[in-house]
Amino acid sequence: MTMAPETPALIDPFARAISYLRVSVTDRCDFRCTYCMAEHMTFLPKADLLTLEELDRLCSAFVRMGVEKLRVTGGEPLVRRGIMTFFRAMSRHLGTGALRELTLTTNGSQLTRHAEELAECGVRRVNVSLDTLDPDKFARVTRWGRLPQVLDGIRAARAAGLRVKINTVALRGFNEDELFRLVDWCGSEGHDLTFIEVMPMGEMGEDLRLDQYWSLEDLRTRLSERFSLIELADRTGGPARYVRLAQTGQRIGFITPLSHNFCESCNRVRLTCTGELFMCLGQEDRADLRAPLRRSSEDAVLEEAIRAAVSRKPRGHDFDYSRRAVSGQMSRHMSHTGG
Ligand code: SAM
Ligand code: SF4
Repeated sequence: MTMAPETPALIDPFARAISYLRVSVTDRCDFRCTYCMAEHMTFLPKADLLTLEELDRLCSAFVRMGVEKLRVTGGEPLVRRGIMTFFRAMSRHLGTGALRELTLTTNGSQLTRHAEELAECGVRRVNVSLDTLDPDKFARVTRWGRLPQVLDGIRAARAAGLRVKINTVALRGFNEDELFRLVDWCGSEGHDLTFIEVMPMGEMGEDLRLDQYWSLEDLRTRLSERFSLIELADRTGGPARYVRLAQTGQRIGFITPLSHNFCESCNRVRLTCTGELFMCLGQEDRADLRAPLRRSSEDAVLEEAIRAAVSRKPRGHDFDYSRRAVSGQMSRHMSHTGG
């Protein structure tokens, strides 16, 4: 049973209740995926990062205000030193019933070390990003990653009782030829699978990623050449839409922030590792929550700042890849906002 929040719920100007917080706990990563980071990144000074205690205080304020789902992300969340202390701290909100789900998005590289403890903390599902099953291509797209390490991590997660969802960025000319291989592998391993359209974020160079853009509409059409797709009504309040493959029973998700607009049902906000709150992934507006957090130990001050931020949540984003031109692109990195 879900407990009623102690303080009034967070409702934005478009009457959407904010029940989902994604929190980036670090901007660092042990991979350098080509669509996410430059090879030589300058990371934030440590002093700018929220401490684990500050992250706890801030996330706990959101939970008091009605956040029921917390997704930990990054950068790579599992490379943050002491991150298990944070998961342990958040698990107390699962214990009270205030939080319904504690989860993370990871590149999988550190799962062999942490899967069991994550399960002990009440994590039930993890999203693991994996764009290819070919070791050479994996090394190319992640630059620093190695496929066997990630596959071991996924196995460790399953052994610890965690459900695994694979997130695959659809990349033209890169993993088009692996569509069925990925679907078959997820089917045989029992993982859910979601495809993501590449988004115009970070350092993009001249082409603004247009050459990497593989529309999920096209991906779906190709999928339907081999499978009958049953449209599912499942909604998470987010950008994902789901189908079931009639022949195998698998659920496949599509995250299409560019070709479809999903903003009307948006229930989420994103906290960066420096304490900035982004009310929309596709807009630059943000609110600094680190200043009120550090200025006062009064939770009322923090709650007031959170409420003021949510009152500025925009209706939606302005990404647009139509007419083969990009507008509304963002200069910040996905690893900063936490994808
Ligand atoms: N390091 C973790 C991981 O890779 O899962 C968590 C952070 S990562 C920024 C979160 C997700 O964002 C990953 O699934 C990644 O593939 C995705 N991502 C990164 N850059 C992207 C981009 N430009 N367009 C679409 N998805 C992107
Ligand atoms: Fe790291 Fe994830 Fe970005 Fe890849 S997508 S560089 S694993 S943060």
